[in-house]
Amino acid sequence: MSDFIKGSCLCGSIVYEIRSSSIGVVTTCYCSLCRKSHGAERRLRASARADGFRWISGEDDLRRYRYSPEREKVFCGTCGTPLINEYIDQPELFGLAVATLDDDPGKRNVLHLFAASKPDWIEIRDDLSQVPTVPEMEGEIVRVDSSHVVLEVGPGQKHRIRIHPQTTNICVGDRVRASLAHGERGFDLSVLPDG
Ligand SMILES: [Zn+2]
Ligand SMILES: [Zn+2]
Repeated sequence: MSDFIKGSCLCGSIVYEIRSSSIGVVTTCYCSLCRKSHGAERRLRASARADGFRWISGEDDLRRYRYSPEREKVFCGTCGTPLINEYIDQPELFGLAVATLDDDPGKRNVLHLFAASKPDWIEIRDDLSQVPTVPEMEGEIVRVDSSHVVLEVGPGQKHRIRIHPQTTNICVGDRVRASLAHGERGFDLSVLPDG
């Protein structure tokens, strides 16, 4: 199938191939995690389906860094190029560093995420929509632990999100609105009235 396209790292040791149809919506992210992780003003990224991806060469040279409880950065151990982010809590998906593709994925950046997190000396000079953090989510809490909740936002659609350390008094069954108030340190949850 010619749907497969290739990507690689700076030194050429790591080569991967991915089905372009398995690549989701392409966005740019200005959050501090993405900027540090890539040493760049922004990260061009897309979620992709793991069943459409495979390493072609250099897999032994990959290194991993767990930068949050549910995200692991996978990069070349020789040249340091960030390639993918594995989602520990959703292994069927991963985050693709779109700029490491050598072939055209047939998709373009559609949105700037976490625009509020960028420093003032980084400017956005196009007309694409900007989202200050991430879109707000509403849903029902289906699981709670000390630092995370699982939010069901639609039929079969669940997100495990880190909550702000000061969040209290929430329980399974609550309907909440989740928003990222500041930076990426955790979502604020506000409980919605019944009905
Ligand atoms: Zn490399
Ligand atoms: Zn980011």
